[in-house]
Order: sequence, then structure tokens, then C-alpha cells
Amino acid sequence: MNFSLPDFRRKWSCRGYMSAGAAMVTVALGLSLVLTERAEARKYAAPFDIFGLGTPRPRARVHSARIPLPKPRPEEAPKASDEAPPEAEGKPSPDKPGDTKPAEAARPPEKQLSACRLALTEEVAIAPSIPDIRGPGACGGEDLVRLEAIVLPDKRKVTVKPAAILRCTMASAIADWVRKDMVPLAASLGTTISDLDNFDSFECRGRNRIVGAMLSEHGKANALDVRAIKLANGQSIGLTDRSMSRDVRERVLHSVCARFSTVLGPGSDWYHEDHIHLDLAQRRNDYRICQWNVWDPLPQVAPLLPAERPEEAPPREVAAKPEAKEGADDEAAEKSSRPVEKSTPEKAQPHKPATKKRR
Ligand SMILES: [Zn+2]
Repeated sequence: MNFSLPDFRRKWSCRGYMSAGAAMVTVALGLSLVLTERAEARKYAAPFDIFGLGTPRPRARVHSARIPLPKPRPEEAPKASDEAPPEAEGKPSPDKPGDTKPAEAARPPEKQLSACRLALTEEVAIAPSIPDIRGPGACGGEDLVRLEAIVLPDKRKVTVKPAAILRCTMASAIADWVRKDMVPLAASLGTTISDLDNFDSFECRGRNRIVGAMLSEHGKANALDVRAIKLANGQSIGLTDRSMSRDVRERVLHSVCARFSTVLGPGSDWYHEDHIHLDLAQRRNDYRICQWNVWDPLPQVAPLLPAERPEEAPPREVAAKPEAKEGADDEAAEKSSRPVEKSTPEKAQPHKPATKKRR
């Protein structure tokens, strides 16, 4: 201190600067001591801290209390990680149903195809399989197909219009019937078959559409109603068409009754006058029903036209027998007097046999 005071007094006359500078030095030293003590107090515990210099400690405790909080998180984190796997499993689990679906979808192919399905190839019929039908009630069936066409040995197709929903066995029976019986029949007529007129196939209903009646084989997809077989030449074999050759209809009758367990047509009941019902119902002892009356062709002349016949026939026949002795000259007179003869009731009687022939 001695080395600088004389110089200061010489250069600067003002003593206030000297006293102020000394005070600044002392204050700086004091502050430095206090700060160092506070810094040490933060580093080391000060159990006897009376002046609160160690106040940062609680802060340190607070920080120390907050710092461990993240520690339990990692403890939870592993739990979350443990839960994650189930979630990870859960995520695939929604996929599992997706996986199970293809698995279920894969199951149907695992079903062993029926012998019928294996035999009903595209060389025999265009009959894609369709899902099983269950209900309502007892309706439905399995191993179903949609019979769209029958493929003939020469690769031509007989279209089923409309396509028929049938059990494979019934569809196969229809295809076999057309291929082996109806094609030769059409060939004998000099033509081929183009269409099979499907009047009804699967339909959930009672017999003859009567409510409450026993379930029809149609409800089991085990029946087909056929109305006609259309030919390539534009004609058709109407199975119940009385204008169709009786011989042809009888050939169809014998064919279907040999193949199907139930055949219902005209004469069976009043529900089958315009089509033929075919099904493969199974009964005890393989009992079969073949009820189809092949009616005679309708008379070409209606029986309600005898009024015109008396105009010609009565004068010749009736007049000829009793009045033949009267001579040929009377014939001219009879012709001129026809209106009068028409009114004679005796001449109408000989025509009764003619009406019997019509029946
Ligand atoms: Zn029917």
C-alpha cells in the first residue's frame, strides 16, 4: 500500500478517489467470500446453516425428488413393453380373423368333392358349384350347382333356360337324361336339341305351392319342372302339348319314368297339366311315382260343329236308306228342299256314332 499512495497523492489531489477505491476493494473481497461460501454450501451439506445460505439445498432436494420420477417410468416402461407384446399380438389378432377367414375359405376346398361333383365335368355340363342353402325352415341343400347348360358328346350345348339351381345329383340326372335319351329322340326327328325349358327348379315352398303342405322337392333343390324341349330347327317338343305326336310324348314318358323317382304330368293332379315334374325323392323300397297320362291329340274338328254336317250328310245317308226306293229323281228335289230336311230330327240321329269317335 505504501508504494502507491505517494504517487496518487502527487498526480491526483483529490483524496476522495483514494478512499472510494479502498472501499471498492473491500466490498469485492467480501462478496467473493460470500459467493464462495454459497458455492461450497451447494456442494456440501451444511447442517448448521443459520442464515439460509444453504437454501439451494431444498431446491437440490426438489430436483433430486423430481429426477427419480423418470426412474419409475422405466419401471412402467418395461410393463408397457410387456403389454406391448400382447398389443402386438392383439394387432395381429385382428389380422388373425383375417387369417382365419382365409383359413375358413381354405376349408371348403378341403372338403372332399362329392363323387357327383367330380363326375359332373365341363364335358358333361356347365354347372358351377354354388354355396349350400340352409333355410328357411327345412329348405335348402348341399352340393348345389347352377345348371346352365348340358354339353353334348359332340361339344354342342343345350342351354337350360333359365339356369336351374339343383343338387348335383339331380343336375347330373338331367344332363344324363338329355344326353342319352333326348338327343337320340331329337335325332329321330331329324334335328337336335337347343334349349331345355326350365319351368321351375329350387324354390322354398310346399307341394303344389299349397301353404302348409309338405315341403316340395323343389325346396330341397331336388326337382325340376320341364315344360318343353326346344329343337334347333325352331320347333319344340311340348311335353304336355296334345298337338305333339303322341308317340314322341310317350317316348319321353318312358324315358323319365325310368330315370326319376317321381314323374308328375297331366292326369296326376290339376297342378301339372302344363309341365312335367321330375325329382329324385327317396322313398322306402325305392318306391316310384310315374303319373303322366299322355292324352290323345286334340281332334282337329271341334265336337260342337254338327250343325254344318246335317247340311250334307243327313240328306244323303238318312234320306238314302228310307227314301232310296223313291228314285234318284228325288235327290234333286231333296237338294232343293234341304232347309226343310235340316229341321227333320230323324236325320240327326245317325250322326251320334261320329261324336263317339271324337271322344
Ligand atoms: Zn315340380
